[in-house]
Amino acid sequence: MRVAIIGAGWYGCHIARFLKSLGYSVTIFDRREDIMTEASGFNQNRLHQGFHYARDYETRMQSRDGFNRFLERYGHLTVDVSPNLYAVAADQSLIDYRTYKAIMASSGIEFTEVPPSACALNLTNISGVMDTAERAIDVDLARSFFRTELQDDLVLGTSIRQSDLQYRRHGVLLHGDCYDFLIDASWSKFLPLKSSVFFEPTVLFYYEFSLPPFALTLVDGPLASMYPTGQPGLYTLSSVTHTPLGQFATATEAEHRLNSVSREELDDIRFRMEE
Ligand SMILES: Cc1cc2nc3c(=O)[nH]c(=O)nc-3n(C[C@H](O)[C@H](O)[C@H](O)COP(=O)(O)OP(=O)(O)OC[C@H]3O[C@@H](n4cnc5c(N)ncnc54)[C@H](O)[C@@H]3O)c2cc1C
Repeated sequence: MRVAIIGAGWYGCHIARFLKSLGYSVTIFDRREDIMTEASGFNQNRLHQGFHYARDYETRMQSRDGFNRFLERYGHLTVDVSPNLYAVAADQSLIDYRTYKAIMASSGIEFTEVPPSACALNLTNISGVMDTAERAIDVDLARSFFRTELQDDLVLGTSIRQSDLQYRRHGVLLHGDCYDFLIDASWSKFLPLKSSVFFEPTVLFYYEFSLPPFALTLVDGPLASMYPTGQPGLYTLSSVTHTPLGQFATATEAEHRLNSVSREELDDIRFRMEE
């Protein structure tokens, strides 16, 4: 069986590796010159356990169980983040610390309560802080691992258009090769999704610090968060309020918005995030 996969982000790479382990022959196409260079290469790389999701039981459980499954398969691509703190503000928070703590304790996710001074940043106006075992995915390690695992199966620098496909009775013809299955792992940039979704282009800010390592997330509300990358001293800053640049009906519109962000606009977003 031959499978063509469009998109070499986390989804495409994982699916390809899994199918290969079952004996399928896979070919992965990506429009970029390397793997994991879009969302999978530039995100906060947090391996969630559920602490982000005080408002949603199902997502908490998926995160808690997914954390363990991810570690079984790809634990060697993750790094320890210590301390990894979740803090609740004394005011302007959507949740109080006692409620947040009760939700996490009843979800079977382990944490330790710590004083605000556990964070290298000078935290004030905080009603409670917990230290968690969430980890970070090291994207450089992940890229290098999947490049090796999939080296004979990658076709990079190749954007696939719908006009490149010829549908056959059993499978598709793509660039002259026949495949039994085609998997779209392009985050809906190739084939439109049937369900109703919107696209959010995002900005993430990178900071260099010479402070002792830490991760800090403020719950619950804008979820402002500083998170370490795999590279020592390099952190990302994000917030649910300021990271998205808007909501768009199509990936093309979202990409256009992303490519037209000005320096002044970035400075303004950064200022509001840091506030
Ligand atoms: C700001 C931000 C922070 C995030 N933080 C976290 C986090 O901390 N933890 C977490 O678990 N998740 C996080 N996420 C979500 C995570 O990044 C995504 O869920 C994940 O990367 C999606 O992977 P993917 O493979 O589906 O998509 P992508 O990584 O976008 O991969 C799609 C690939 O398809 C390719 N492609 C597209 N169109 C074509 C085409 N026509 N032909 C060929 N190739 C094509 C692209 O080049 C790309 O490489 C975050 C996301 C954002 C935006």
